[in-house]
Amino acid sequence: MLEQFSVEQHTIGMVLPILRKLIYTMLVFKCEVSKDSLFSFSFKKRSLNYHCYTKQSIAAWTADIAAQNPDLVSRSVIGKTYEGRPMYLLKVGKSGSNKKAIFMDCGFHAREWISPAFCQWFVKEAVETYGKDTVMTTLLDKLDFYVLPVVNIDGYIYTWTNDRMWRKTRSKHAGSTCIGTDPNRNFNAGWCTLGASKSACSSTYCGPAPESEKETKALADFIREHLSTIKAYLTIHSYSQLLLFPYSYTYSLPSDYEELNSIARAASKELASLYNTEYTYGPGATTIYPASGGSDDWAYNQGIKYSFTFELRDTGRYGFLLPESQIKPTCEETLLAVKYIANYVLEHLY
Ligand SMILES: [Zn+2]
Repeated sequence: MLEQFSVEQHTIGMVLPILRKLIYTMLVFKCEVSKDSLFSFSFKKRSLNYHCYTKQSIAAWTADIAAQNPDLVSRSVIGKTYEGRPMYLLKVGKSGSNKKAIFMDCGFHAREWISPAFCQWFVKEAVETYGKDTVMTTLLDKLDFYVLPVVNIDGYIYTWTNDRMWRKTRSKHAGSTCIGTDPNRNFNAGWCTLGASKSACSSTYCGPAPESEKETKALADFIREHLSTIKAYLTIHSYSQLLLFPYSYTYSLPSDYEELNSIARAASKELASLYNTEYTYGPGATTIYPASGGSDDWAYNQGIKYSFTFELRDTGRYGFLLPESQIKPTCEETLLAVKYIANYVLEHLY
């Protein structure tokens, strides 16, 4: 086995990406496992694990948590993925009339494993603290949360079985052997104008048309059908520790800039209050990079004023390979920010 080798300095830029890719392709995780194995869904264990999306894990969990909390959680299917998997959506909240809602999704980009973990954590916390935590109780009494635990299910499973660093969907495109579209470049908001690629082989491929992907279409259809009730849109990514709001497809500021910026500032402060995790906040284009076709910009342009993108831990040490020991603290601190935003929305319904 090769244990040590050296390269000349001028070739390091060329060699590093190849090495990195080699290591990532070696990271293959078991997906089909029994219920009591490492990958099954259980928060009773001391440390949390990442969970695959098989019938035994996240998909099964959506059924279980709804069955166990019939007064708070219900499950529906909003569509099917490219490979035919049902996209389960959880509605979390006490039943009531004329309730407004917050939509939250996770798992847009396959390799961002901390993201689906957060959506699961959120639902678990909601049902466990309802009736105990006054803020959560009020939120669930007065609002509904639509939670989509994994948007890009096909891609997510692919990161467990084939390539840990996969990002896109798994769709095929005519005229190219390259697979997948970047779901967060596939929405109809400045589609494919900036920070997105028209090349099917690119990791930021915008797709052949807006909403070309079954997953983004299902999500957009659901939001369009519920526009009168959805008052906030939260989308959870990783990594970089950022709290972003529109716009990303243009450097122009949104008309609600002042309000969104002050919410982001306060939510970041809440988040940091637990473990001092520092977040940067601001409009996407200037805070991270310009990117068109994102779901947050699209939701905002649909009239959902409170539209935010979270980029969770870390800032690059582990990146997408955030260790399992960081799942719990990351989820705990993020929950504080999400609760802050939800409470703000509740007090500023429009
Ligand atoms: Zn992402």
